[in-house]
Parts: sequence; structure tokens; C-alpha cells
Amino acid sequence: MNDRGEVYRVVGIAEDITERKRAEQEMAEAKEAADAANKAKSNFLATMSHELRTPMNGVMGMTEVLLDTPLDAQQHQFLSIIYSSSQSLLGLINDILDFSRIEADRIELENKPFELRKLLEESLDPIRVDAAQKDLKVTSVIAENCPLWIEGDVNRLRQVLINLLGNAVKFTTEGEITLTAETLVSNTSGQEESFLKISVQDTGIGIPADKLDRLFQPFSQVDASTTRVYGGTGLGLVICDRLVALMGGHIQVETEEGKGSCFYFILPLKPAEKN
Ligand code: ADP
Repeated sequence: MNDRGEVYRVVGIAEDITERKRAEQEMAEAKEAADAANKAKSNFLATMSHELRTPMNGVMGMTEVLLDTPLDAQQHQFLSIIYSSSQSLLGLINDILDFSRIEADRIELENKPFELRKLLEESLDPIRVDAAQKDLKVTSVIAENCPLWIEGDVNRLRQVLINLLGNAVKFTTEGEITLTAETLVSNTSGQEESFLKISVQDTGIGIPADKLDRLFQPFSQVDASTTRVYGGTGLGLVICDRLVALMGGHIQVETEEGKGSCFYFILPLKPAEKN
């Protein structure tokens, strides 16, 4: 600019962005195609797993009927193996079905009132036999500040809890498992919000700090020997993590190798009237 305020020179940089734009568009298209392929794969898996469940129910149902008929000891033993193997297979199919439904956005959550105490009791039922066999003490505590009835998807919450409790029993050889529910209140800039925190604490093998990042990854276990010793698919925690996220919450773990783990999740709390 000269001293009379007139512009006498304009300096500019011209860059041909056609190439960059084209590359960006190609990348966006590739991502869209990959997402679509991923969804199609998950849809296929969800449908397939559903088809797999039907014959499995036939196998298990008929095995149960047969187990109730007169059998000699060896026949009974063989049938019991068929039954427990089909139970494991059904568990695996259910995990794959759930995982692919979550990936394909095909999970719809319910929002209905349910009784908190009943949820905890029903979640503990399936682990009681295994815990008793290992001589583990099982306790549940509901803090006084928890409402009796809350709103949410009780079936999905039970599924998450059964998974966490199942792991707690699986990875603990002595001591106890404690299930706790409490209400947390946060007060950010005068706005009061309530959350439900549910924790599953065990006195088991714990998880090494450098393996924690693998926990919520699909098909991953803390180390390969875990699969040989304890079985499992490495899908359970991923499903829990996604379900809790769908409920607007998050799941976390505090753990010390050799001492035990505490898996907990925190959700927005919606107290409900008894229905
Ligand atoms: P899996 O079906 O293999 O148990 P999960 O996703 O439920 O799959 O768990 C993944 C891995 O996380 C387990 O294989 C185990 O290594 C570790 N893990 C989960 N829960 C516990 C626990 N309570 N104590 C110790 N390790 C655990």
C-alpha cells in the first residue's frame, strides 16, 4: 500500500487443489464403501446366527428329554457331554449374534420400569452354582440412596451383569465376589444429575496394567493362554461396553494383578414409579 492508502500490489499464492479435492473424494467414497461392506457383513452374521440358534435349540431340547429317560451310567455321561457342549456353542452363537447386531445398529433398547433389587438377584442366580463349587462368597449390596424402581432395559442390564459376574467367577479361585449398586450425584454449574453405578468386585487373578487396552477390543483376550485355561471368545466385554454406551453410560475397570478386579459401569439414573 502506498502512503495515500492505495493498493498497488497484491501478492497471492495460487495452488491447484483439484488433485487434493479428488483424493479427498476418493477417500470418502472408499470409507463409505468399507462401512457399507462392514454393515452387510454384520447383517449377514446376525441373520446367520439366528438361523444357527434354531437347530441348536432342537439339539439341546431333545438332549434334555433323553437325559430324563432310563439310561445306563455311560449313556448318561455321553449325553451330559453333548448337553454341556451344546450349551457352550449356544453361548458362542449368542455372543456373535449380539456383537453383529450391535455392529449393524440393529439393537433397540427398551425403556421400562423395573425393580433394582430383582435385577441384581436375577443376575446373581446363574453364577451361584459355579461360585459355590469354587467356595467363593457372593454378596450383593444396594446403597440406601438407590431408588427401588428405575427405568431402562432390564434384559440388557442383566446381560451385562451376568457377563461381568461370570468373568468374576471364572477368573477367581478363592475369596469373594461383591455386586454393589449405588447412586452418584454430580453437581456441575448448579445442575444436579444422578447416576447409577453398579460394580462387580472380585478377588481373582487381576489384569496386568499393560494388557488393559486389549480388554474392550473384539475377539481379544488378555493373553493367548487365557483361552486355553479359561475358554471364552473375548466378545463378552465388548458387548458389555457397547450396550452400556448405548444406554448413555460407560464401563471401566480397576484392577491389580494377583489381587483382583473391579468392573463397574455408570449410567444416567432414571428413577421410576412402581408400575
Ligand atoms: P471371554 O469370553 O474370553 O471371557 P471377555 O470379553 O468377557 O471374553 O473377557 C476378555 C478377557 O478379559 C478375558 O479373557 C480375561 O483375560 C480378561 N478378564 C475379563 N474379566 C476379568 C476378571 N474379572 N478378572 C481377570 N481377567 C478378566
